[in-house]
Amino acid sequence: MTRVLKDGFNRVIDYLRISITDHCNLRCIYCMTDNVSWVPHEEILRFEEIERLVALFVQEGIRKIRITGGEPLMRKGLPEFIRRISGIEGLYDLSLTTNGVLLKQFAAELKQAGLKRLNVSLDTLKPERYKEITGLDFFQDVWEGIEMARAVGLSPIKINIVAMKGHNDDEILDFARLTLDSPYIVRFIEYMPVNEAWEGKDLLTIQRIQEKIESRFKLDPINGSHNNGPARVYKIPGSKGEIGFISPMSNHFCGTCNRLRLTADGNLRPCLFSDVEVDIKGLLRGGGKDADLLKCLYEALSLKPERHRMQTISAPKCHRGMWSIGG
Ligand code: SAM
Ligand code: SF4
Repeated sequence: MTRVLKDGFNRVIDYLRISITDHCNLRCIYCMTDNVSWVPHEEILRFEEIERLVALFVQEGIRKIRITGGEPLMRKGLPEFIRRISGIEGLYDLSLTTNGVLLKQFAAELKQAGLKRLNVSLDTLKPERYKEITGLDFFQDVWEGIEMARAVGLSPIKINIVAMKGHNDDEILDFARLTLDSPYIVRFIEYMPVNEAWEGKDLLTIQRIQEKIESRFKLDPINGSHNNGPARVYKIPGSKGEIGFISPMSNHFCGTCNRLRLTADGNLRPCLFSDVEVDIKGLLRGGGKDADLLKCLYEALSLKPERHRMQTISAPKCHRGMWSIGG
């Protein structure tokens, strides 16, 4: 019988986001603070430990997994890890979120390992601006990585853009145009003030972004394709790609939240915006039985709040930054 996991608000929880490292080869202004510190290597969950959790949680009702970070492609042995968990029976969706810097090198191997689709974070189409936003000069590498991912058949490829006033709001139409001739799903995401990374900026709302695109293009809504999660997805008639909008701040989607997070240092995190976490590494390394690990899973589910309260940029911040949670 197929099992279903539910939280205290009767939401079905079938999605686990797994951060496999807190290290990153970029320093995005909206994600990292200046005083970043890394978790010591021995505190990071080993792939065998994560695999054990995935196999157990899938039996219990998790159906979708996303690998994230830090930058997941920086972790040695990732393709082999993907190969192992992609074979777990009952897991029907395995995806990856990457900044794309190393994607050209790994795309074919990831595809062979069983990865079907991926999200690439790219906030500008202007090479000179890329360094301003990410701190490093890797635009060309990312672009070639995206093209390589497409060439080896990873599909769909979603391009995630954190929309920021004064940084990339003049590129909204350029990103929309990208979907005219390419099959990419371009998704605009509101900046989320989880910690102190990027203070004092006004929120650029999804409504403003959508209005800007609709001032130039017709957008037809699309329903129910490509594991859209919280995104509302549209298509410019006749275009090859799609355009998605994700509004965690101006119009939170907590009512349909279906996810848990596993941090690289072995904590289950019930809500992106809350520091409440359940330590599962202690049990993994202390001889915990499967039943003990499942108790942790159910505890994390019971701690999921009904909704987040981060409506304003000045709301209280979390202890962890995005790079340490995985987005
Ligand atoms: N390094 C990978 C990457 O950048 O795709 C994966 C980790 S990153 C933390 C996951 C996602 O979180 C990325 O799409 C990134 O753009 C997004 N993100 C990071 N900080 C954010 C913020 N403050 N608000 C909204 N999205 C954010
Ligand atoms: Fe690194 Fe991703 Fe954070 Fe950028 S958003 S600093 S690429 S973890």
